[in-house]
Amino acid sequence: MTAHNGVGRQTRHQDHIADWLAHTSDEPASAHAEWAERGVAVLPLGRRFDAVRVSGVLVRAALAANAVAHRPLILDPHSDTYYALVPPQTTETWTCAFGTCLGRGAWLGVPHPERAAAPGPHWTSPVRELPPVGTAPGVRVLIERGRQEVERAPRERCAWCRQETGRPVIAGIIHAGSGGGGHIHACPACTATYRIVPLAEHPSDSDGTPRCGAVGEQLP
Ligand SMILES: [Zn+2]
Repeated sequence: MTAHNGVGRQTRHQDHIADWLAHTSDEPASAHAEWAERGVAVLPLGRRFDAVRVSGVLVRAALAANAVAHRPLILDPHSDTYYALVPPQTTETWTCAFGTCLGRGAWLGVPHPERAAAPGPHWTSPVRELPPVGTAPGVRVLIERGRQEVERAPRERCAWCRQETGRPVIAGIIHAGSGGGGHIHACPACTATYRIVPLAEHPSDSDGTPRCGAVGEQLP
């Protein structure tokens, strides 16, 4: 252990965050084992934290508007769903229709606090705050901002079904050689059907060509 320099102190702080999360479980050692094995531990809600589930469309719209300060969120890219940790028993007073609060009796796959990249569930940035739990009003502001942005978003044509959508997902980049720049959009239904990977979730070496979740599925 390098406990006498800055790196060591930072590592210990991160260990404390992981321990804090693990101790929401009756068997913290199991949580650590799950993190070591697959990077995600399934933890009970309603003890140290509840979680608010929000659609990826709303969260990305809010974050793109660059107006919301928030704690790191958990992203499950498979379902395109974000989870914000909030204080326990938030479920008892939560009323926002655009986010679902999960509490006692529910379980959540929580990535290791340092896991901040795909594949699989991950935090939107490494967790540095202890406890790593935001406030319910803060999450409501995030959702409300996202809802406002989505409602005023311009309508775009889906490159897969050719229908207009008010909730476009940016699926790729139109390369200049094929008729000028711009974005390739998908509607939410095609995004789900073809398991289109939003451009924001592409790996860093992506050239912007649309990616689908399964080999051989149609591209526009
Ligand atoms: Zn479509």
